[in-house]
Amino acid sequence: MPYLDNFNRPISYLRVSVTDRCNLRCVYCMPPEGVPWRPHEEILRYEEIELIVRAATSLGISKVRLTGGEPLVRLGLVELVHKLAHIPGIDDLAMTTNGTLLARYAAELAQAGLRRVNVSLDTLRPERFRRITRRGNLAAVFEGIAAAREAGLVPLKVNMVMVRGLNDDEVVDFARLTLEGDWHVRFIELMPLGANAAWAGDGYVSVGEARRRIEAAFGELLPAKVRVGNGPARYYRLSGAAGTIGFISPVSEHFCYRCNRLRLTADGRLRPCLLSDYEIDLRTPLRLGADLAEIRGLLIRSIGTKPERHHLGESIAPRERAMSEIGG
Ligand code: SAM
Ligand code: SF4
Repeated sequence: MPYLDNFNRPISYLRVSVTDRCNLRCVYCMPPEGVPWRPHEEILRYEEIELIVRAATSLGISKVRLTGGEPLVRLGLVELVHKLAHIPGIDDLAMTTNGTLLARYAAELAQAGLRRVNVSLDTLRPERFRRITRRGNLAAVFEGIAAAREAGLVPLKVNMVMVRGLNDDEVVDFARLTLEGDWHVRFIELMPLGANAAWAGDGYVSVGEARRRIEAAFGELLPAKVRVGNGPARYYRLSGAAGTIGFISPVSEHFCYRCNRLRLTADGRLRPCLLSDYEIDLRTPLRLGADLAEIRGLLIRSIGTKPERHHLGESIAPRERAMSEIGG
């Protein structure tokens, strides 16, 4: 049974950022000058992540997602997947990736025990992709998606962060994908974080607006009968569609009352809430020799500090880290 926090929420999910580095520089995620990478010695080693995940499973956490930065730029990631997939108690091991390196790794990842991937993709237009990511190649992402499907990393979800004036005119195109095949597309509201907090205000598009545009184009959205995940998204389907449409609304309708997660940053801090800068250091105790019981105690402390909800509505946004450092 998962451990309950102070608001009776079962904590069953750990997001692990394996690196703060990334091969892209998405405009809403990183400041234009980039984020200085942390030195290697500040980043958790795979054995350290493994110990933390073992401690987490002893508290009933059964779902782990690898994220970053871009998780696939870290060397030897397949080895970490293999270690984590074999920890008793882990029944869902997934990854969030920008997809650019998936074609190379999908088969190995699946073989090592990864179950599923979410691919972040904000545009279907090559030129625009390069502009949003400040360097990426869209064709590589499509190859990655195909390879992931072939390797059985399904259901594969596509995450689209909507930004006004940048890609919001593609909401209908993304929705159309779900009519054309087995696409699971999720529309995500832009969150104000780190140095981008002020910028994000003008770009914000609510999921309500996305929904209205989709329904104007294709008719009413029907609640999806099949659950595609157990995260914060609400799922719908267009009539006759093979795929689903999800909406993630951290800003317009907070889902904190359903929050089931903890986050581990690449430099070894536990972050009880994405949208609060409060963190607990695990790396220092680990390097001083902390064992599983001690880490378990720190996990319990972190669960005990999960706030009831975030306060973006009152314009209180975290400032200390970019999204690329936390992992989304
Ligand atoms: N590099 C990987 C990727 O892009 O999927 C994993 C890390 S990335 C930080 C995780 C997710 O956070 C991505 O889906 C990205 O679009 C999302 N994200 C980044 N900045 C965001 C923001 N300000 N608001 C909402 N989502 C954001
Ligand atoms: Fe990198 Fe993901 Fe951030 Fe884009 S959203 S810069 S791919 S970490």
